[in-house]
Order: sequence, then C-alpha cells, then structure tokens
Amino acid sequence: KFKIITIDGPASSGKTTVAKMIAQKFKVPLLESGALYRFVTYLLIKSEKSIQTYMENEDLLINFLKEAFQKVKIELTSEGTFIYWNGKLIKDELRKEEVENMVSQVSANKKVREFLTEIMRKLGKEDSLITEGRDMGSFVFPYADIKIFLTANEEIRAQRRLKEKMGKVIYKDKNLYEKVFNNIKFRDKLDSQREVAPLIIPEGAYIIDTSNLTPEEVLNEILKIIK
Ligand code: C5P
Repeated sequence: KFKIITIDGPASSGKTTVAKMIAQKFKVPLLESGALYRFVTYLLIKSEKSIQTYMENEDLLINFLKEAFQKVKIELTSEGTFIYWNGKLIKDELRKEEVENMVSQVSANKKVREFLTEIMRKLGKEDSLITEGRDMGSFVFPYADIKIFLTANEEIRAQRRLKEKMGKVIYKDKNLYEKVFNNIKFRDKLDSQREVAPLIIPEGAYIIDTSNLTPEEVLNEILKIIK
C-alpha cells in the first residue's frame, strides 16, 4: 500500500475531482493544498492591514501567521480538507472572488510557502495521504510513492471552470467565456513563471493529459499506475 500520492497540475486540470475519487476509493485523507493558500489569503484580506503591508514585512507576516494558526484546526478526510478557524468551518469564503484574485500573489510569497509547507509535511507524517496542488510532488513531498501530473488544454480548462462556476458551459455568452479563458491563461502564467515554486513537472511523475478523458477514465489511468 502507498503512503503518499501527489497530484499536481495547472488550474482546472481535474486535480481535485480525481484526488477526491482516489481518496474515497482507498478511504485515505485528502490534502487540498490550494485550500490552505486560499485560507491564508482569506485571513490576510480580513486583517486590518493591507496585503501589501504583509508582503513587504516578513516579520509582521510570520507573526501574523503564527498567531492566526494557533486558532486553526485542519481536518483531513477522504471528502477533502476542512479548515476551522476559531471553531468555525471556513469553506465558501475560500471560493470568493476577492480570494481568487489575490491567491496567486499571496502564494508567490516565500514565507507563506515555507510556513504552509511545514504544516503540510507534518500532516503527511501521520498516515497515508492523497494530496493535490502545484508543488506537492516537486517540493513538498518529493519522496511520495506515486507522483501524477495532470494537464489539459486551455480551452477545455476554461470550459471546466465555467461549468464549476455556472453549473453549465455557456458557449453563447462569448464575453463570459473569454473572461474565464483569459483568467485561466493569466493564472497559469503567474503560477508557472513565478520565481518561487513555479509549476513544474515533478521528477518521476506520470503525466496524464485529461483533455479528452472523463474523470472516471483519469481515475482508471491512475489506478493502473497504483497497481
Ligand atoms: O488549487 P486551487 O485553485 O485551490 O489553488 C489556488 C491557488 O493557490 C493557485 O492558483 C496557486 O496560485 C496557489 N497554490 C500554490 N501551491 C499549491 C496549491 C495552490 O501556489 N500547492
């Protein structure tokens, strides 16, 4: 049996869907690393000072994170990653547009990454884990038993993103489609060209192009690899 499986890839490549399917199948906890980056972004947005102030002052940032995380509980189940702050589940908040807009900038911060990487490695020490994100196989868990890298072309990813947002793909609303398409391209660029933790294919990773595959087909590919 495996201890850690990592799934990395760009936005809307299908990581979360497939990671959840594997977690449920093997009844192992699922670490969605994006949720942690979104949560830190959410905390920073909510705080009194501006994000910029924290980004420019490392000590301030670290102290803020340390103090805030004293009141944080992270629960991993095969359904996903649940973050409690002061006993309250923070979930829908993480999908808000203001978080979406700032998360790339916050996750490009070295101190934020160090802080969250340490937390994630601790979580990975306990038992078996499926984890998904941008640098799970390349940096956080390079010793994972199985590393997967999912990709899909930009058009398909924009369609998936639209469906996630609207419940369906609306091809007719050209403006909306283009907005989502450009947003995907922009995020990809930020994620892959940033100096800190750029999105790369981890060494020894199995690459799966999910453009023309259903989630079940992707799952089957991964199950073949696990065997
Ligand atoms: O996967 P998700 O869309 O929730 O991730 C949100 C953002 O968090 C990504 O666009 C990326 O900037 C950042 N992220 C990261 N490293 C990870 C996971 C997410 O930088 N391991």
